[in-house]
Amino acid sequence: MTVIDRFLNYVRIPTPSDPHAGEETYPSNPEELVLLSTLKAELEALGLTAEMDEYGYVTATLPANVEGAPTLGLIAHVDTSPAVSGRGVQPRIIRYTGGDVLLDERGQYRIAEAENPELARYVGEELIVTDGSTLLGADDKAGVAEIMATLDRLVSDPALPHGKIRVAFTPDEEIGRGTDFFNVKAFGADFGYTVDGGELGEIEYENFNAAAGELVIEGVSVHPGSAKGKMKNAVDIFADFHAGLPRAERPDATEGYEGFYMVDEVSGGVEALRASYIIRDHDREKVEKKKEFFLALAKQIDEAWGGGCITATVKDSYYNMAEIVARHPHLIENAKAAMQACGVTPKVIPIRGGTDGARLSYEGLPCPNLSTGGLNFHGRQEYIPVKSLKTMVDVLVKLVGLYAGA
Ligand SMILES: [Zn+2]
Repeated sequence: MTVIDRFLNYVRIPTPSDPHAGEETYPSNPEELVLLSTLKAELEALGLTAEMDEYGYVTATLPANVEGAPTLGLIAHVDTSPAVSGRGVQPRIIRYTGGDVLLDERGQYRIAEAENPELARYVGEELIVTDGSTLLGADDKAGVAEIMATLDRLVSDPALPHGKIRVAFTPDEEIGRGTDFFNVKAFGADFGYTVDGGELGEIEYENFNAAAGELVIEGVSVHPGSAKGKMKNAVDIFADFHAGLPRAERPDATEGYEGFYMVDEVSGGVEALRASYIIRDHDREKVEKKKEFFLALAKQIDEAWGGGCITATVKDSYYNMAEIVARHPHLIENAKAAMQACGVTPKVIPIRGGTDGARLSYEGLPCPNLSTGGLNFHGRQEYIPVKSLKTMVDVLVKLVGLYAGA
C-alpha cells in the first residue's frame, strides 16, 4: 500500500479527541481505538510484533539489520483536533494550478491564495484537500502514514540499513494528554522523533513552556431592581480580570518567541463562572512571571470586589524541550542531513505550541519533531501536497539509515 493510500484510509476513520471526557476515560474518545486497532493489524501484516496496551497505545518493533546502532523511536498521534469536525472526512486529490482552492461546491470555503502564500510553492502539484465540511486530519495521520510506509519500505528492502526501530501510535495528543500513560521505559528507545510537524522541511525542538490557569468565580445574584450595592455579577468580575491581562500578550498579537495568555473557555452566569486560560512562553523565567502575574491579578480583582469571589490556580502542562535536545545535537544534525539528502531544505523553527516530544524529552526520551508536510492544521483549509507525503517517507528511511552508519 502506498503512503497516499494509507493516508486516505486513515483520514476516513473518525478520531477526534474529546476535551470534555472525564479524567478516567482514556482514550478520551473510544473511536480512536478503531484506528489504533487497524494500525496494530497493519503492523502485524508487515511482520512486526505489535502490541496495544490497556490505554490504547500501539507499539511495535522492527529488529535491527545492522549492529551497534541506537534504538530509534518514531511516534505519531492518531487523534484529530476537536476544534473542527473530523467525522465524515472526504479527502480529495486536486491538481493545483494557482489561485484560490475552492473546497465546497457552494464556494463558501476556500484556501485563499492571499492568506496562504505557501500555496505558490505547490503550483503544478497534487494537493489533498477537504470538501470544506471537516478538517483533513493530516495532523497527524500524515505522520502515521509516513511512519507506516517507512516500515513497509524497510521490511520490503532488507538492503536498507537500520538499527532497532520502535514505533508508537498514541491517542489524545490534541487535548494535551497524548503521553499521560506513555511508558517511556517500556518503549525502550534511546532517541525518538515525533512526526507531527507542518510544512515539509520543518524541524522543531524548541517549544513553549506551558501552564493552564483556572478561575472559579462566585458571584452574588440579586434581583437587578434592588441590586445596588449588593449584586456581584460573576461575569463583571471576570470581565475586570480579563481586561487586566496585557492586550499585547494574546495569541493574535504575538509570534516567534513571544509568549501569551489566552482565555480558552468560559462558562457561567451571574452567580458563578469558570474560565480556563492557557499561558505560554518559550523562556522559562518569563512563563514563571506570567503565572505570577495571573495569580496576582486574580488577587487584586478579588480584593476590589470585596474578597472571597475568585479562586485562581495555575498548573504546569509541559516544558520547552530545547535544553534536553541540546545535549544530543546529532538529533538535529541527522534530521537536517536526511532532509538535504532528499532535496529538502531543512528549516528549524520554534514551535508555538507543544508536542508529545516535549513531555517525552523530560521523561528521558529526547524527541524532536519533524514535518509531516501538512499545512493549515485544525481547520477546513488543512491540506497536504502528495509529493510532501512521499518525500517524508524518503527522509525517514534516510534518517534511520544515518543512525545505522549509512
Ligand atoms: Zn499533531
